[in-house]
Amino acid sequence: MPHTIVSDICEGVAQCSEACPVGCIKPASNKNIKGTNFYWIEFETCIDCGVCLQVCPVKGAVIAEERSDLQKNPT
Ligand code: SF4
Ligand code: SF4
Repeated sequence: MPHTIVSDICEGVAQCSEACPVGCIKPASNKNIKGTNFYWIEFETCIDCGVCLQVCPVKGAVIAEERSDLQKNPT
C-alpha cells in the first residue's frame, strides 16, 4: 500500500523527496495549515519501500497507508 504525507503535519524539509528511490515525492506550490511548504506522494508510483517514513524528522508527517483524505494532491 502506498505511503501518505499528511499535508498539514509535513514541514517541507524534503529529506523524503531526496531519499525516495522512485522520485514520487513532489513539492506542493501552496502552503499547509502551519504556513510551511509541504510535499506529497504520487500514490500510483510509490513502491511502498518505507524510506520516506524512516528519514522524515517530523513525527506523524508520513504514514504507511494510502490516505487521500489527509494528503492534499496539488496539480
Ligand atoms: S514528509 Fe517529512 S521529510 Fe518529507 S518533506 Fe515533509 S517533513 Fe520533510
Ligand atoms: S514509500 Fe518509498 S517509494 Fe513510496 S514515497 Fe516513500 S520513499 Fe517513495
